[in-house]
Amino acid sequence: MEGEAGERFDLILLRRHLGVSIPVQRLANIVAFLAVLLCPAGLPFAAPPAFAAPGVSRVSDIRAWTNEIYTRVAIDTGEEVSWQANTLRADPARGLPPRIFIDIRGAGIRDEILRKPVEVRNGLLRQVRAGRFDRDTVRVVIDLERESTYRVFALPGPFRIIVDIDGEGEIPPLPAPPEAVAPPHPVAAGPSPENPEAPTAAPSVPPPAPSAGPAVPPAPPAIPPAVESPRAAASAAFPARKHRVRVMIDPGHGGKDPGAIGPTGLKEKDVVLAIGRKVREKLSRSGEFDVRMTRDEDVFIPLEERTAMANKGGVDIFVSLHINASRNRRAEGFSTYVLSRGASNREDLELAARENGVPVAKLQGVKFIIDDMFTGARKNESLRLAKTVNDAVVRHVSTRYPEAQSLGLKQAPFYVLVGARMTAVLVEASFISNAREEARLRDPSCLDGIADGVVEAIRYYGQNGILAHSGS
Ligand SMILES: [Zn+2]
Repeated sequence: MEGEAGERFDLILLRRHLGVSIPVQRLANIVAFLAVLLCPAGLPFAAPPAFAAPGVSRVSDIRAWTNEIYTRVAIDTGEEVSWQANTLRADPARGLPPRIFIDIRGAGIRDEILRKPVEVRNGLLRQVRAGRFDRDTVRVVIDLERESTYRVFALPGPFRIIVDIDGEGEIPPLPAPPEAVAPPHPVAAGPSPENPEAPTAAPSVPPPAPSAGPAVPPAPPAIPPAVESPRAAASAAFPARKHRVRVMIDPGHGGKDPGAIGPTGLKEKDVVLAIGRKVREKLSRSGEFDVRMTRDEDVFIPLEERTAMANKGGVDIFVSLHINASRNRRAEGFSTYVLSRGASNREDLELAARENGVPVAKLQGVKFIIDDMFTGARKNESLRLAKTVNDAVVRHVSTRYPEAQSLGLKQAPFYVLVGARMTAVLVEASFISNAREEARLRDPSCLDGIADGVVEAIRYYGQNGILAHSGS
């Protein structure tokens, strides 16, 4: 099998992360191999070939979210496909700009996409176009305005390939990592004989700005100690913020996706929207915060779009709101998560799978390389914010419900946090599957308590100037 050694290595890593004892080969068979390409050095990387699709997939949509320093492109294929990403230098003789291209094998394409490129023209990239490269390959080409750092990964259920493109010089320097780790090991792409547009051995994108080192900090096992002078540290590590603190509140689920449903029918999507509105109302009062919501009504928004909305808006804090659920009807308590590659136990893995809308087997197959520079730079802040949020939420709810339990700060692979360029946390505000906690969630004063906790934690961070921001 092509790329078998690399896949075995990844699977062994995966087993270690998940703490499961599935034979490697069996895991390989069930894994939907999702490559995440980290491209910190701007070098052309290719995904290890994904498992072949049964041939019913097709490129059905290309979506883009953009501002002048960031663009996320989502390529929808529905079914899982084999794909490979690479870059090409500008070709002035042919009037071609620098390009990122993704070759999707064994897939068709909707005619409308062939005819109509997605125009962006934001100073970062010009357009996204697609065509049939050969009988078996659809090629999606992203025409850049200038050579840029990018990252490609795929999400299942339904399958989509995500490309995050960053403007040059916008990657914040990393705080000093606690210990050095090896950079990720992407697979270098070679030109393919049948591919006239394939690059030569030379890198087609220049190295990153000096501030963006290749090393990434490992996921800290616990919250790092607070810096002595948060304000000084923040100003040293990040450019000064020129705007009110921007907060994106993300009520999970919505529309066709009810989220978890309680024993008496209470829906997670309704509870988290109510909490989100309360957070916005309370946080907006002082005028100190610019508060936005990914959704303010009962609508379905894909997970990658929620992250893209936050990135596009240049927000400083992203808080995704959810209610937990478990097959164990006695499970209870509040927890707040930050993004990590794996989950520490089966419950957290099942939770992440449910929140991601995929079976656990799919989640186990996700080869996240999430310790990218943005996530790495923000992880310590996210850990601190998550702990502050959880403590504050439990404290506020406890004033009326003294039995409220804290499950504490946790980490799991939530898709909605992947690629977030800001301090980002996900709150699981008690268990809707627990009859007593479901009843509590019907009490507006409980929802007020949850919202008050979130607001207090955000205020603490905003006022302490700890927040970083990537610019604008
Ligand atoms: Zn949820």
